[in-house]
Amino acid sequence: MYKIQNNRLFWQRLLTVLTLFISTGLLVILTNFQTNATNQNSYQQKPHPLPPTLEKWQDKTNSGDYFDNIQPTKVGYLIWSSFPVKVKIEKPTGISEKQSQVWVNNVLQTIQEWNIYLPLQVVENSEVADIKIVRKAPPLQIEPGSKIPRARSALTTYELYNQNHQNNILSHHFTILLSPSQTGDYVLSAARHELGHALGIWGHSPLQTDALYFSQVRKPVSISTRDVNTLKKVYEQSTSLGWSVVEN
Ligand SMILES: [Zn+2]
Repeated sequence: MYKIQNNRLFWQRLLTVLTLFISTGLLVILTNFQTNATNQNSYQQKPHPLPPTLEKWQDKTNSGDYFDNIQPTKVGYLIWSSFPVKVKIEKPTGISEKQSQVWVNNVLQTIQEWNIYLPLQVVENSEVADIKIVRKAPPLQIEPGSKIPRARSALTTYELYNQNHQNNILSHHFTILLSPSQTGDYVLSAARHELGHALGIWGHSPLQTDALYFSQVRKPVSISTRDVNTLKKVYEQSTSLGWSVVEN
């Protein structure tokens, strides 16, 4: 359906920022790259209508949110506007069929959990996927000033591209890497957490009781009211994603 083809170079030049990442672990990686190459006029930001699933969401408990911790990117908030969002789960290889199925089922469960708040659809064809979830070790992370690389349990990255044949609509897609070192409940919590990033919660909660807490906790938690409140607030914001790029 979409391919990063002839315009790819253009975008790579325009957005040296193509990829940002968030990793779970003690240290939050939220990198804001600077680039001078971007023409501001190319990125008009507008809100999209709230998806009905979020519009009807009401928090009667007044649990609050952690929206202040969510980073807008150069193109605004990482908001999906075309639903359902298509998710591809890459079936793991190199482990037993049974283990592979357990892993897929864990990931599927978290997709179903988020599906309550934003319509998601599991697809077989990765070419059409908006979000790809892969069981693969993320690259080691080397922190400034440290010589010891740190292993990451998960890594979520996004890429921007434009749909040439669809009015130059600025679009994004995500790749989620879940480390094979994670098993059982940790797969659930890592997948749940990273999917939260991919759905637009591009930041972390300071509270352990939220799925988007910045660190992995011993006892995995479900998607919290605060997670959903935050997601809803994100979707009320402006973005350049899903809108035509104005060429200058
Ligand atoms: Zn995270």
